[in-house]
Amino acid sequence: SSRSSSKAALQRGRMRLSLQEHLWAFYHERVNISPEEQQAARHAALDICAELRAFIHTKVPDMPLRDMYLSGSLYHDLQVVSADHAQLMVPLILEKSLWSFIPGEETIMNVPGFWLVRRENLEYFPRTCSYWDRCLIGGYLSPKSVLEAFEKLVTGCMNWPAIGSVLGYVVRPAVPSHTEALALSLEVQYDSERRLHVDFLPLLVSEDAVSLIAKPHRERENLWRQSFWSAETTKLLALDRDDNGCRCVCMKIAKAVCKLNPALTPLNASHLANAVLLLSESERDWSREALAERFTQLIRALVGHLEAGRLPCALDPKVNLLCELTPREVDELGYTLYCSLSDPESLLRT
Ligand code: GDP
Repeated sequence: SSRSSSKAALQRGRMRLSLQEHLWAFYHERVNISPEEQQAARHAALDICAELRAFIHTKVPDMPLRDMYLSGSLYHDLQVVSADHAQLMVPLILEKSLWSFIPGEETIMNVPGFWLVRRENLEYFPRTCSYWDRCLIGGYLSPKSVLEAFEKLVTGCMNWPAIGSVLGYVVRPAVPSHTEALALSLEVQYDSERRLHVDFLPLLVSEDAVSLIAKPHRERENLWRQSFWSAETTKLLALDRDDNGCRCVCMKIAKAVCKLNPALTPLNASHLANAVLLLSESERDWSREALAERFTQLIRALVGHLEAGRLPCALDPKVNLLCELTPREVDELGYTLYCSLSDPESLLRT
């Protein structure tokens, strides 16, 4: 009858209201990081960046690099739970005539979103003509080999205990987590209870402004990863700015849920940012009052993407952001999120 259906609607309304309240409380208590904490972390990152810049400049002055810069969620108030990491971007300079960028879909590996960087003109400009020839593997610039070259410098040649004591920090090379076996990161303890990871991220920019980062494909170590990070971040922030929306809040809550829940850690910031961007294409109302509805919808959308085994990159739909996850990981993520649909609040009890 209409009475029972309106009662059900009322009940649903109440549930939504309370999910709404829970989400905002979770956001303020667990997700959002105070400006002071962000500032302290940025300060430590800047000190480390200055040391690295000076060291590389004096120790390997001929290494063709553009200026290094700090980047990441920490610089856009998009980091969650604790201010504990930043990326140090290290742009390599490649000679235009000696290198070409080959999109992954044009290789036998056929993986959109990843690229090979091939050394050209070896017959006229033999090996060693380019500084980066030392990182060639089978005729291609290897992101792994580039990382290893920096690792030798950063962890092998720099006296971090001495540098750290001058800065008042404890600095040590960080052990990469098993999910990111190929990564170079420094752990900076800048306060008795605060630690920051500064990830060293070599970067290439093609003539067509494609940017590639030395964070190789999980299984194919010679592939460079195309970065959509700047464009995604800019778009998300701009959309929210235009309508005073809650997309970033919604994404940050989802990021925190994934950071705090071990079953969900394979979902990263890029998965979540793109899921929010895709949802923004069909959903117009991102007012603060709509947070609970949009959040539930985001979880449902993620379940759908995981069921399909496909989460397209919002800026380049041929890129499947789930392509590196194993079928088992995809199943488990989908199952965990599916189970939470009947009680989304359960995701906040961490
Ligand atoms: P969070 O680390 O989960 O807070 O999210 P971020 O938005 O900071 O995402 C950082 C990840 O994106 C890093 O681990 C990088 O590997 C990757 N990434 C790809 N391109 C870029 C880029 O241009 N800048 C930064 N900072 N990270 C990038």
